[in-house]
Amino acid sequence: MPRSSSSRRSNKWARERRELSPSIADLRRVQEEPDGTWVVQQVRGSRSGKVYICPGCHRELPATTAHTVAWRSDQEFAIGAGVEHRRHWHTSCFNARHRRR
Ligand SMILES: [Zn+2]
Repeated sequence: MPRSSSSRRSNKWARERRELSPSIADLRRVQEEPDGTWVVQQVRGSRSGKVYICPGCHRELPATTAHTVAWRSDQEFAIGAGVEHRRHWHTSCFNARHRRR
């Protein structure tokens, strides 16, 4: 029986499904909010060197600062699938976002 490359292809898929490190995933929780269901993570500062723009105040948020990562997840299956849509907030901005309306 000839060996196909299909198993190799499925490995590629598995590799592309990047998961967050367990220490971060432990801090992930789902919050029911008036504006929808959010997946919220508290993130400690990392040395990735990235700088995010906080969607609350539109100011820079260096990855070295402890902050909140959150994204809307109105359907349960999106908890894992929505990682590309996550946003990095100053924790205080995320908590205060309702007051900005
Ligand atoms: Zn902010």
